[in-house]
Order: sequence, then C-alpha cells, then structure tokens
Amino acid sequence: MKASALFRERFGREPDGVWLAPGRANLMGEHTDYNDGFVLPFALGQRVTAAAARQPGRRLTVCSRQEPSDLVEVDLDGLAPGRVTGWAAYPAGVAWALEAAGHRVPGGCLAIDSDLPAGAGLSSSAALECATALALTALGGLDVPRAELVTITRRAENEFAGVPTGIMDQSASLLCRAGHALLLDCRSLESWQVPFDPAAAGAGLLLINTRARHELTDGEYGRRRAECEEAARRLGLSSLRDLTGLADADSLTDPVLRRRVRHVVTDNQRVLEVVALLRAPGGPSADTYREIGRLLTQAHVSLRDDFEVSWPEADAAVEAALAAGAAGARMIGGGFGGSVLALVPAAHQGSGRARDAVTGAFARRGWTAPEFLDAVPSDSARQLSG
Ligand code: ADP
Ligand code: MG
Repeated sequence: MKASALFRERFGREPDGVWLAPGRANLMGEHTDYNDGFVLPFALGQRVTAAAARQPGRRLTVCSRQEPSDLVEVDLDGLAPGRVTGWAAYPAGVAWALEAAGHRVPGGCLAIDSDLPAGAGLSSSAALECATALALTALGGLDVPRAELVTITRRAENEFAGVPTGIMDQSASLLCRAGHALLLDCRSLESWQVPFDPAAAGAGLLLINTRARHELTDGEYGRRRAECEEAARRLGLSSLRDLTGLADADSLTDPVLRRRVRHVVTDNQRVLEVVALLRAPGGPSADTYREIGRLLTQAHVSLRDDFEVSWPEADAAVEAALAAGAAGARMIGGGFGGSVLALVPAAHQGSGRARDAVTGAFARRGWTAPEFLDAVPSDSARQLSG
C-alpha cells in the first residue's frame, strides 16, 4: 500500500485507515448526460488511494505522490470556492461540500497515491474526490449515504474546482459493482446494475490513453451543450431526451444542429441496446460481445462525424485496433483528448495484437507512444484497511 508508505514518510506516524476510489470508463452514452439521457459507465481496477488520520484543530493537510508540491495546508473554517487552487482544490472541495451539506469535517492528514493516469478521461478527479470523501466521513464518524456522497463530491468538482461535469463520474466511482456496468438515467438520477463481465464470454477491454489533449476542450464542450439546448428549444422540448426517434427532429433545418441531434438520439438508443444485449436471457455470449463491439464503433463514427468531438489520435487508435481484430472501439469522454476503449477477443493475444497495431500507428505518425490499461469492471469506492 503505497499511500500508507507515503503517509508514514510525510506525517511520521501510522494512518488511521486507507480508502480507495476507482476511475471509470464509459461503455456507451457520450454527451448524453447533459441532455437528460442515459450513460453506462463501469468502475476500473485502477484507483486513487487515500491514507488518512485525524489531527487536532481545523486543518486539512494533504500530499500526493503524483504531485511535486510538499504538504498543502487548508483551513477548514475559511473554505470557499476560489480559495484553493491546483490539485488540492479537489480534496478541499470535498471538505467544503461536506460542511455545506451540514456534516462537520474533522481536522485530518491525507496522503494520496494513484495508478490512474490523470487527465486521460478516466476520471482521476472524481476518484480523488470520492477517496477523500470516504476518508473524511470515516475520520469524522459521519454516516453519509452513497447517493448523498455522489451529490457532495459532484459539488466539489463543479463549484469548488470549477469543472462543469455531469453526474456520471462520481456515480460510477461510488455506486458501481464488480462484473457490472451502471445504467444511469441522468434525468431521474435512478441507476441500475447491469451484468457486464466480458472475460466470462472470452472478450477483454483495452483502454488506450492517446496522451493527447487538444486546446479546444473547454470552448467546444460549452458550444456542444449550447447547440443541444438550442436544438431542443427549436423543437419545443425541455431536453433532447424527449426525442424518441430521428423523425421527430425533421423540422430542424440547420444541418449542424441536425447532426448534433442525430448523435444524441442514436447514442441514447445505443445505451439501451447494449443494456438489452447484456440482459438477454441466457446471459451474454461471444455473439453478444461482437454486437456490442459493432455498437461501440458506430458510436465512434457518430462522435467523429455527427458530434465532431473526436481527435486524430483517437481516430487512428480506433482504426488500428479494428484492423487488428478488435470487435469494436470508440473514443470515450468529452472529446479532443483522452482515451479510447476497445473490445478485443481475449484469446489469440487479442489485446496484444491491438496494442502492437496502435503502437505502430502512433510511431509511424511520430506521436507520443500511447499508454495501455486493461479495463476490468470493478467495485466502487471502499475502505482498504484501518
Ligand atoms: P480526469 O478526471 O479525466 O483524469 P481531470 O482534468 O478532470 O482529468 O482531473 C485531473 C486532475 O485531478 C489533475 O490535474 C489533478 O489536479 C487531479 N488529480 C488526479 N489524480 C491525482 C493524484 N493522484 N494526486 C493529485 N491530484 C490528482
Ligand atoms: Mg475529471
């Protein structure tokens, strides 16, 4: 446990406990969350760990193995959005949001470690928030239900760290189960566990961190949201979720808005199709996974051509993985950088062939070598020891 080793090194004593929270990948449903639609994330085995102990007084002291800065000290009584910047805004934001919800946070020391690449679209920020939330609530003897922790950690990200994300990342980190994906209705906030165990059907999931982050990210994300709102307004709907089929959008004349709508409608449908495949009587088979693969690739084409949020490294990774025998692949996350998820046959070195093909494709173009992670649907945040 490297977080506890870091804790002993920096604080000179044993932690009271160690808590962990996973990152996530999203199987299907991109840019559907803010359109009140569906998403289908699963928790990863890669996670953020927080070793923590109480300390007297009203200070939160944090350090991270992934950050060069020494200890960061935060006064729990003076917390407000904007007061803490840099990575410490995430743990400080959780303390702030807990207190804002009426939970008294104790003084504490936190040492963070992680095997999740940060900024790769695998939600290291939510994992950091959720690991912090479990540590702080345990140190304070606070009994906060998971559903409320989702709201609290999301507030930390949206209001304290200032990143306007939906409900998916924190829900995945706090609610997912091993061998399952989480179907999330972003309108009602209801969620359902859907059996999802590709290994049992001879399939594997490979994450490809393209290591690219293009400048457009923030502006284009805001523009897509505005375009979806405008399309819904012109159609007289409160959100694009209310569109059940493309025919309902026939009155839209603007070609760009039509493409955006087509992505949202078809991606919502693809989420529900994947769920139906996974829940089919008799359980998923190799055929099921081939079908899911086909939907993944369709989603990529939709994100690339209709929603226009893909990036060259993602397109190349998808193309190379498919050429090497992947059943399907798509970019995940908001776009313009981050990771690709590929569904590969587990037998015949399926993942190895895809890795080699993607590595070769990047090398030929002179791009930074991609990073590969095996994605295994895993359990949500929990205590490791203490
Ligand atoms: P993603 O959530 O996709 O990984 P974000 O940009 O939302 O990307 O969050 C990345 C940020 O989260 C980092 O820049 C850093 O501030 C913080 N972070 C993530 N992991 C760690 C860690 N292990 N230690 C310290 N800060 C971290
Ligand atoms: Mg994030």
